[in-house]
Amino acid sequence: MNARPLRIAYGRIAQESNALSPVLTQLDDFARTHLVRGRALAEACSAGGREVPAFLADAELSGFVRACVADGDTTPLPLVSAWAVPGGPVSRAALDALTGELCDRLRAALPVDGVMLSLHGAMAAEDSLEPEAEILAAVRAIVGPEVKIAVALDLHADLTPNKLRAIDVLAAYQTNPHRDHARTGERAGRQLIAALRGRTRLHSTWRSLPMVHGGGLTLDFLPPMLPIFWRLRTLERDKSSVLLANLFMSHLWLDSPELGWAVHVTTDGDAQRADEVADALADRLWAVRHQGPPQLPDAQAAIAEARAAKLARRLGAVVMCDASDVVGAGAPGDRSALLAAALEHGRDLRWLLPMRDPAAIEALSSARIGGEVALSVGGSLDPARSTPLPVRGTLRRFEATDSFGRVATLDLGPVQLVVTEGACLAMKPEFYADRGLDVWGADVIGVKSFFPFRLYFAKVLRKSIYVRTGGGTTDFDTVTAQRFARPTWPQMDPGDWRPADRARRQVEAMR
Ligand SMILES: [Zn+2]
Repeated sequence: MNARPLRIAYGRIAQESNALSPVLTQLDDFARTHLVRGRALAEACSAGGREVPAFLADAELSGFVRACVADGDTTPLPLVSAWAVPGGPVSRAALDALTGELCDRLRAALPVDGVMLSLHGAMAAEDSLEPEAEILAAVRAIVGPEVKIAVALDLHADLTPNKLRAIDVLAAYQTNPHRDHARTGERAGRQLIAALRGRTRLHSTWRSLPMVHGGGLTLDFLPPMLPIFWRLRTLERDKSSVLLANLFMSHLWLDSPELGWAVHVTTDGDAQRADEVADALADRLWAVRHQGPPQLPDAQAAIAEARAAKLARRLGAVVMCDASDVVGAGAPGDRSALLAAALEHGRDLRWLLPMRDPAAIEALSSARIGGEVALSVGGSLDPARSTPLPVRGTLRRFEATDSFGRVATLDLGPVQLVVTEGACLAMKPEFYADRGLDVWGADVIGVKSFFPFRLYFAKVLRKSIYVRTGGGTTDFDTVTAQRFARPTWPQMDPGDWRPADRARRQVEAMR
């Protein structure tokens, strides 16, 4: 059976979009995070390479290459790989440039037996809610109906019929916060190769649930999701014809009227088993909805909570996430409310805080290091939701970086403020340590990440506080204000997920 050598092209266009942010994601934003092509991509994804240097040594495409190596007779053909940190929708120019390059390189790589793509699944463009459906359709048009397409997705993807139409093999992360990028690519690659070699017959089905949810209840290692994630992994391991089992907990700020949780199951030719497993998983997810959304303190209450956490501050630090402005979920990162509260109510604490403000960076670029500065920070990217805050302090450092553009460090007395030109994805201690700031000496460290910071800050984190600064693009309130095409939890309780599922999947109602 193993007679034929296989050729599989691979690439990536990935970004998680926050449709509420007015800051479009441009080609530069991809270049700052990850934009690699051809031979350099092959090197980055091979053993010993670093696929996304600032972020992950091994991600989806390294996992896929590993599956090719394990097969022994499959040649992986590198196209282009582009990944931007979460932000506003992708500009049409950036989308066309990246899709165009992916397609040009794919045409040059023909003939191929398969294509492996790493996408996010919740990417929006400035003029489209489903740019990934466009990318997939373009790839399908080039390779034709016989070539199999495998896709790795984030579990925050929004599944739609348009996206699924071109996909033969689908694997999503099975961890949240995500730590199985490479494993996900390897799962997709293994199943793609098995199908191409005729060892399996792919049969997939999915379910779409009229519910959205967020907060701590979506973590894979805590109830209520822990047993459900565990079930997914055992389904794939127990060899009872389930090849892939995925669940999706949509990115909440995509502003799609069809947004909802979903299940996707692939079996080895067993349609009935696929339906049974998908229905059972959907029922389990549906039951989770009754757990309420998180109730978060406002800035003043959060500061009082941090002040009271004396032991946590003595042994390490309190890590505070501005849940209304989470850059890791695509927010602009320019909200000034927490900084204002820290300067007014938290002067007895030592703070490290992030802020994205290209206008302030421009103003500081001509200032003297060590000199006094007076300027406004924040509110320059999303003036409808944040206000500029006048501050006075000392410019400690000013430097050019690969990941954040130009970065200024301001000493504002109780607050050391790191101002960035690019997206201020403050989720690792290095965001501050690389500026010469001491995370161990801080009482409160600000982050712009919902969950990944818990992994990166594990050593110094003694207590975490999620603070709500009101009206931002990543407030849970915005979810309840969304316009949905159908009654959707938590706005309403439809009682049964099945009618909405049939409508969303565009299948006829069962008799
Ligand atoms: Zn995600």
